[in-house]
Amino acid sequence: MFGVNGKVLWVYLDERKFKEEQIPEEIYRKYLTGYGLGVYILNREMKGGEDPLGPDNILGVMSGIFNGYPVPLGGRLEVVAKSPATGTWGDANCGGKFGPELKNSGFDAIFFKGISREPVYLKIVDGKYSLEDAGELWGKDAYKAEDYLKRIEPKGQALVIGVPGERKLLIASIMNDYGRAAGRSGLGAVMGSKKLKGILVRGTKKIEPFDRNLLNETVKEIQIQFNKNIDLARPWQLYGTTALTDAAHLNGDTPIKNWKGVGLIDFGEENAAKISGTEIAKDKIRSYGCAQCTLACGGHVKRNTRYGQIEGHRLEYEGTGAFGGLNLVSDLDAMAMAFELCNREGLDIISTGAVIAFANECFEN
Ligand code: SF4
Repeated sequence: MFGVNGKVLWVYLDERKFKEEQIPEEIYRKYLTGYGLGVYILNREMKGGEDPLGPDNILGVMSGIFNGYPVPLGGRLEVVAKSPATGTWGDANCGGKFGPELKNSGFDAIFFKGISREPVYLKIVDGKYSLEDAGELWGKDAYKAEDYLKRIEPKGQALVIGVPGERKLLIASIMNDYGRAAGRSGLGAVMGSKKLKGILVRGTKKIEPFDRNLLNETVKEIQIQFNKNIDLARPWQLYGTTALTDAAHLNGDTPIKNWKGVGLIDFGEENAAKISGTEIAKDKIRSYGCAQCTLACGGHVKRNTRYGQIEGHRLEYEGTGAFGGLNLVSDLDAMAMAFELCNREGLDIISTGAVIAFANECFEN
């Protein structure tokens, strides 16, 4: 088989056992990898009625079909499980650098079942795997947990939860690369329910595509088109998704005042201008791209807020919407610190902003 490893790893946390499963080629042809393969496996294995935070829920960490190749936008990661937030299908897509490292470690995906007796992390290095004690890690925030794992394998990538995940908060996210989040669906709580603090992967395997020349030619053509249309790409490179922030707060795209307000009336042009992409970009110290992505829409920022200095990933549209319009806030110091705290602790930014907006409304009424 080309383009994939052809196998996934099952980890049975309660028994501390592993199983490698070969996936037939026709399944890859039908479902590709990532989300599709996740749907296939969860649908095959889960009968319905499972408690999302119980031992029978399956947490899948999925690499993607283009992971590991120089395909722009193709380096992302997918996490799947039954969602404790909705009681039905849950998935969260994530940037960063974990996906290609997982694929190069020898597995297209990892599926976790059961609940470990003690906190653990999974370590995979070039096809060899083990469950390791995470007692020292339990209670640490996501940045510290990532630091800890990367000290063990400096060239590896780590996927971790913070304390909200350990406590099974339904708004907990799964983090990598110090601020890239698989945030939606409450999947951090699923990981925490399994007492799985992190996953450390290191992979040096190079997976042969079916036709490397054709792949290289196609990527070259994409790059030529990209360069020809650089004016379209430029706002994303400069501002990321915050390119949309001010307009979205005024045109009805962003929820305002816990979904009850109207942007132009309740938030206003002056406030929208304060949280625009150009304002946020003033703190940018360098560009950031997920693995293998030449668009590189991300940014690292440094900002001296009145709460202290922040250095990390730039605010994105979701954060500005959740902490901005939804809560009628246009104070960039406060928003930047809220964003930083969510990333550090491992909280989904959208859901956290929504919970605060709901609390504000409860307080007011
Ligand atoms: S750098 Fe931006 S465009 Fe590229 S994969 Fe990451 S989020 Fe997507």
